[in-house]
This record gives sequence, C-alpha cells and structure tokens, in this order.
Amino acid sequence: MSRKWARKKVLFVLSLDTEEEFDWNGDFPQDNCSVENIDCLPVFQSFCESLGIRPTYLVDYPVAANAHSAAIVKAIATSGSVEIGAHLHPWCTPPIVGPNTERESHVVNLPLDLVRQKLDALTDVIKRNIGVIPTVFRTGRWGINSDILRILMQAGFAVDSSIYPYYANEYFSCMESCDRPYWPSLENPDVPGEQREIFELPVTAGFNHPDFPFWGRIHRGLSSPLLKPLRPVGLAWRTHALRKIYLSPELATADDMQSLLAAAMAANQPVMHMFLHSSTLLPGRNEYTSDHSDRDDLYGSIRNVIAYLLDNADVTFCTISEAVAQLKSGFAGYLAPAQAAR
Ligand SMILES: [Zn+2]
Repeated sequence: MSRKWARKKVLFVLSLDTEEEFDWNGDFPQDNCSVENIDCLPVFQSFCESLGIRPTYLVDYPVAANAHSAAIVKAIATSGSVEIGAHLHPWCTPPIVGPNTERESHVVNLPLDLVRQKLDALTDVIKRNIGVIPTVFRTGRWGINSDILRILMQAGFAVDSSIYPYYANEYFSCMESCDRPYWPSLENPDVPGEQREIFELPVTAGFNHPDFPFWGRIHRGLSSPLLKPLRPVGLAWRTHALRKIYLSPELATADDMQSLLAAAMAANQPVMHMFLHSSTLLPGRNEYTSDHSDRDDLYGSIRNVIAYLLDNADVTFCTISEAVAQLKSGFAGYLAPAQAAR
C-alpha cells in the first residue's frame, strides 16, 4: 500500500477562548476587566492564515462589550476564514449576583434562570457589537450538564465544546465524558444519545497510546490517593510509560502533542481539536507566557504540530461549525449514516 493511501483523513480545529486577562491567584474579576490582549489577535490571525488554520474565537462578555476589543474581533470576523462563538465566564457576565467563589465560576453550578439571563446577555452583546449570531459555545472553566445543554438548545446553539476529557475537580467532572465528537444524550451529556439538535465537539485530550478510555482508567488508578506516596503518575510521565496530554500549546510541548496526535490518529479520531486562551498571546499577563520568547515558542509549537500533521495525514482545516458539518455529511464514515443524515 502506498504511503498516500495509508494517510488518515483528519479535520483540524483550533478554538481560542477570547477573553479578559486573568490573574489566577486573585479573585474572579467582576468589573473593569482588562482586554488588552485582544490587541494581539490580528497578528495571531495572520499567523493562523499563514498555516491554513481557520480559528474559532469563542468570545466572552468583557471582550464583546468593550468597543475597542469588539471592533478588533469584528474586523477579524469579516475575513471569512474564522468563526465567532460564545464563551460564558459567569463571574463577569451580567446580571452579576450571588456568591463569586470557585464553585460558582463553573456554569454547571449556577441556578438555571441565572444561566439563561447570562447567556442572553452574552449572545446579545456579541450580536450587537460584533454582528454575529453565535451558534457554538463553551462554558468558562469547562463542564456541561443536561440542564445547560437544554438551555443552549433553546437559545439556538448547535454545537457545544465544553467537554474537557479526562479531567475532574471538586466542582465538575469530565472523567466519564466521551472524548470524541458525538450527539450528546440529553439525559447524560457525557455519552451519545438520540437527540440531533446540538452536537458536542470536545477538545482533543488523551494519552501517548491509542484507546484513550482504557488508558484513562489506568491513569485514574495510578492517581488514586492510596498510591500517592509512590508517585506513580510522575514516574509514568518521566519514563514515557503513560502521559496524559492536552492538545494545547499552553499545556504540552510540541513533542507531546505529536505523541497525542499519533495516538489519536491510530484510534481513528476524526477531529484534532487544539485550544488556547487569547490572554496567552499577551506575555506577562497570563500563566503560560511570561515574555516574548515564550510567545515565540508558543507560535513555534503550533507551527511544529501543523507540520507534523501535514506530514502524516490528509488535513482539512475547519472552524468548529465546519468540522461538525463535515462529520454530519459523512466525513471518513465517522458518524453512522443515520446519525450523519440530519
Ligand atoms: Zn475562559
């Protein structure tokens, strides 16, 4: 078989949480949010265009409400090679009421009426100031549940991307979530179901071996408090025996992202979904890049990953909605015909 025929067909998606700068050691900012990092977006967009990437900017309230940053996003939106979605940081989206602790920073823990009101405020300001009706969505700080999924459907959203596979903390869990694109069940959005109105496109996360659910269970076992004194997760990481990897240049080296992509392709994952935060583009104002050389490394890392993919697969660059449209129309036979048709 020639190499050409052995190449996988994959879709590449990059989503960018487009949001205010954030001091992760401070309180959740509720007003006067700084959105200076949005000034870095035009350069980032040019960089993406040079590689063929069609980014999806998931925009939050402070960015859409600020005239200067909204104008920058609006200019990029008119380029035709991007998508504008919505990203809900509940702590800084009106109406601002109730406690402002770590627990309430996760959308899944808020009263449903409050979520509806905040989602309305967010979509309204995106429509008004950026001129786009968003149909793709991500919660701030990840996580989704049945109630939020229903609210999104009622509000006209067609795709959610709030699943953060193989991660949990005390406020939400994606440990049991499907790690590949699917129609989420309304009873349990972690697994595929019957509804065909809203699709789930998780970010790419997994391990340096195919069969991520299997290795997820092993990794979870190694993470057990009982084994903690032996530090098995650190040992597995250092020896490369098992590495949990996220497809983000903020969290993983280019080498680790390549390992993840190799395993994801071996497991027939159809979509390689990279993610990062807009604030990372402004060195010194985020937790990932402290100076310009860090930012250069970040760009280099993305370039490296794209070169690897192009060497090893037939890649189609997509926005989130474009990727979902491809899957629905039968891309690589990934969705069974009955699922793809609608
Ligand atoms: Zn965010």
